[in-house]
Amino acid sequence: MDLFEYQARDLFAAHGVPVLPAEIATSPEAARAAAQALRGTVVVKAQVKTGGRGKAGGVRLARTPKEAEAHAAAILGSDINGHTVRTVMVAEAASIAEEYYFSVLLDRANRGYLAMASREGGMDIERLAVERPEALARVRVDALEGIDAAKAAEIVAVAGLPAEVADAVAAVIVTIWGVFTAEDATLVEINPLVRTTDGAIIALDGKVTLDDNATFRHHEHERYVDHSATDPLEAKAVERGLNYVKLDGSVGVIGNGAGLVMSTLDVVARAGEAHGGVRPANFLDIGGGASAEVMADGLDIILNDPQVRSVFVNVFGGITACDAVAGGIVRALGLLGERNDKITRPVVVRLDGNNADLGRKILSEADLPHLEQADTMDGGASRAAELAARKA
Ligand code: GDP
Ligand code: MN
Repeated sequence: MDLFEYQARDLFAAHGVPVLPAEIATSPEAARAAAQALRGTVVVKAQVKTGGRGKAGGVRLARTPKEAEAHAAAILGSDINGHTVRTVMVAEAASIAEEYYFSVLLDRANRGYLAMASREGGMDIERLAVERPEALARVRVDALEGIDAAKAAEIVAVAGLPAEVADAVAAVIVTIWGVFTAEDATLVEINPLVRTTDGAIIALDGKVTLDDNATFRHHEHERYVDHSATDPLEAKAVERGLNYVKLDGSVGVIGNGAGLVMSTLDVVARAGEAHGGVRPANFLDIGGGASAEVMADGLDIILNDPQVRSVFVNVFGGITACDAVAGGIVRALGLLGERNDKITRPVVVRLDGNNADLGRKILSEADLPHLEQADTMDGGASRAAELAARKA
């Protein structure tokens, strides 16, 4: 999960990384009040999860509260690289002497971490990395040793930071490593890390990615979840413990087991080519159990997607045999019928594996109006694609 800059700033402050006082605002008036409270020159910054805000007009200096209000009015609601601005951060402005770059990130390929630093911060770091890679120092960080004072001094030296800031920057880097480990981040990037004209080292912009696999030990990270940015169907699926990913096609897909569902997506996409480019609408793995409730929840989520025009249920019976799954499907459609009236789109079911014959018999005997069966995965995919391509 990526954080907004103001959230990263708050984390930095909590861990002792030097930042400047700031407040957030969602209206021009609030931005004005924030500027008044901060006194002096402030910077009004668009809070969007994308870089290059400065170039896009999302970072503006204001000498007076009135000016801060005007800048906030211009920035709020505007579009920055495809992101609509809902919040601005009003921060005390820094008087910048130099801008540096520092980041530390998970380096999967090397089974460790990677620290990067440059004395040429501020600019687009991807561009710097391509155009003048020698200006961006890369230092491997051992996962067990981490970044202590000696390692930080090494990073600073490799980056060629000026001698007069070396100790101060190294100290900040050790603190940033503290943020990285304590919060279970996979990325902490500071661009720019500045030296002010007073000689202070300050993190002026922060990008933090938290490791979602570590959420179980950071319940406080829940407050960073941006519910407005989550797809409502995905949110519902998470609530019900389902593995669901929304895609943009029209054939809803349910299967048991991630591998089977992934191959089903491929087969549906392939079959869809013969029907004008019909594509899968989602990934949904109901796992091994496939109880009636789980099946009902899965169908409910898929049928709530207005883009879905047909559903392909592809199950290979294993420990949970096909007769149990078939019973689950019948009860699921019954449950859904009671819950609402949404089963107006065709559902194609392919059962194979353990007790497949019995499962198919259960489905035929249930005689459900919108359900048809397919003998093979290819046949089911092709039929579901055909049904999705039909004119309403
Ligand atoms: P980004 O463009 O999204 O990376 O946003 P940043 O927060 O990094 O701001 C971009 C640039 O704006 C920085 O590199 C600075 O040059 C400038 N800037 C940001 N905050 C201040 C500030 O407080 N004072 C001054 N003088 N410039 C700032
Ligand atoms: Mn930046």
